[in-house]
Amino acid sequence: MDIMGIRIPTVVEDNVARRCDGCLRVIQGTPWRVNILDTVTTEVAGSWTETSVINPGPFEFHPDEACVRSWMAGRSFLFCRKGRVREIMRPIPIAAPDGAPLRWGLCDGIHRDDHELVPA
Ligand SMILES: [Zn+2]
Ligand SMILES: [Zn+2]
Repeated sequence: MDIMGIRIPTVVEDNVARRCDGCLRVIQGTPWRVNILDTVTTEVAGSWTETSVINPGPFEFHPDEACVRSWMAGRSFLFCRKGRVREIMRPIPIAAPDGAPLRWGLCDGIHRDDHELVPA
């Protein structure tokens, strides 16, 4: 592994405790990494670059969808129930009709029809 750009061969990466971003407990074994794609659908003006609302990650979780969903819920993300939790999630801006701050939904972006966003 690298620390400050210096390769330290005696430190095995597996010995470093990783914590789940969902339940905050130590992850044994390989973490499940989730990245949020840093692009926005074209029908929405470029709020992504103006306000970096979403940290693109990667976030690390136990290999359990429940951990990812609880992390989303803690950040008030909505989850598209037509998709699944995958390694790459697409952010879906949700326009508020009353001008309130935008919320974000997350979808794996694989289905072609409309999103069905529900609380994570
Ligand atoms: Zn967890
Ligand atoms: Zn969707």
